[in-house]
Amino acid sequence: MSESFITYAVTLIVVLIPLIVYVTRQKRRARAAHDALRRGQLYSEGPKAQHPHIDTTYCIGCQSCTSVCPEGDVLAMLGGKAVIVNGYKCIGHGLCADACPVGAITMVMAAPAMGADMPYITPEYETSVPGLFIAGELGGLALIKNAVNQGRDCVETIARRLSASNTRRPEDVFDVLIVGAGPAGISASLQAIECKLHYITIERDEIGGTVSKYPRQKLVMTSPVQFPMYGKFNKTELSKEDLLAFWHKVLGRTDFNVRTGQSVETISKDSDGVFEITTTGARYRAAHVILALGRTGTPRKLGVKGEDLPKVMYRLIEADHYVNKKILVVGGGDSAIEAAMGLAHQVGNQVTLSYRKDSFSRIKERNAQRIQDCIRRSMLRVIFNSTPVEFTPDSVILEVNGKLQTLANDYVWIFAGGTPPNAFLKSVGVAFGPQDITLQASLEAHQQQEQRHTS
Ligand SMILES: Cc1cc2nc3c(=O)[nH]c(=O)nc-3n(C[C@H](O)[C@H](O)[C@H](O)COP(=O)(O)OP(=O)(O)OC[C@H]3O[C@@H](n4cnc5c(N)ncnc54)[C@H](O)[C@@H]3O)c2cc1C
Repeated sequence: MSESFITYAVTLIVVLIPLIVYVTRQKRRARAAHDALRRGQLYSEGPKAQHPHIDTTYCIGCQSCTSVCPEGDVLAMLGGKAVIVNGYKCIGHGLCADACPVGAITMVMAAPAMGADMPYITPEYETSVPGLFIAGELGGLALIKNAVNQGRDCVETIARRLSASNTRRPEDVFDVLIVGAGPAGISASLQAIECKLHYITIERDEIGGTVSKYPRQKLVMTSPVQFPMYGKFNKTELSKEDLLAFWHKVLGRTDFNVRTGQSVETISKDSDGVFEITTTGARYRAAHVILALGRTGTPRKLGVKGEDLPKVMYRLIEADHYVNKKILVVGGGDSAIEAAMGLAHQVGNQVTLSYRKDSFSRIKERNAQRIQDCIRRSMLRVIFNSTPVEFTPDSVILEVNGKLQTLANDYVWIFAGGTPPNAFLKSVGVAFGPQDITLQASLEAHQQQEQRHTS
């Protein structure tokens, strides 16, 4: 009797304990998912650009997708299925789609109404202007690997079309003109070399694009990517300097046809359908154009008194050049937080971060943890609900919850985002969102009707 009681008891314990652990874990996960969902609803109306699309009929609830996302809680498990809870945090790694064992996830762009301030592009990255392509972050998808993939794919499409068309063009007409030499422009240029196209690349600043403007020794996180004229680039973590050195090495081995220090100002089409491109220094003609301009554009200013003082800056490259200084960083995004932390790690700096909202909401998971750690260790001070109202040579005045507060200050960095080159795109005729497309389609229909009437 007692023996069978012990057997029953042991069996019960062996079955019951893992069951209790499993149920408790599931409950904790469900609670975390609901919290994430509430935060997601609080901070966004939904995905603004690229994001995963989950086909719930195939999802088996294995959680592979939720565990691989480097941005934290973009996805969560609710009711045994993966759902998007913080779509705005997605920056297009696509690891969830790779990890899904049943192919239930595909990466898609936001609904047209959400992406209304994004240029319209086809799956081949062509804009509403035939022959004019957009590659890289300008099209709405961030990350170096996406820029490299798109730059390469655009040129492959162009090369295919050229070989199918057999049109002979004058010597002065390039097959393709690439604007921008960031990761998308570099990749497009190398693919153009690989496809033996007659091409030219125009860059207004330096080769490397946004990467060349990262803070010194910034650790760049990337994914394996097929790089033209090189093959598979497998590094996933490397310094900004090493990544730039790699690009320069690959470009140095080729005959890279680039003009730096020239900014493209206008693009139009002549009567033969050839693009005419004017830059600050020259004029070019090309059968196709790839815009790889990025979305950084020009840094947004606050319009605050004293903002034109030389101590006010919009980009930080060498944090270690600033020691024993009183510093204000303005902004609540990843760039502001990374700059504030970089400066706070230098000897003797007193760093204050001013943000107009009452908490950080749209930052990378890693940065959210690191900034909390810095605050806990009193390495920097964060003043939420604050906006700068004046900068003077040795102070800053902040409005904090309606009251003015003056801080002694040597330097100010403002990270209020950039103005994307939307006006330039519109001047070229690129349509934005669904309304422009409808408008453009009806304009074209109207023009065709008029032509029929006059002929
Ligand atoms: C602080 C920070 C950290 C980041 N960290 C990472 C990371 O770790 N991993 C990652 O994958 N991504 C990271 N990113 C994102 C990544 O840098 C971008 O997604 C990527 O650089 C986009 O490449 P792109 O070629 O589309 O544009 P860009 O790199 O922005 O290049 C655009 C180029 O076009 C040029 N240009 C613009 N207008 C003109 C014109 N009119 N005429 C001529 N030239 C022009 C610009 O000068 C620039 O060189 C980070 C971004 C920032 C801001």
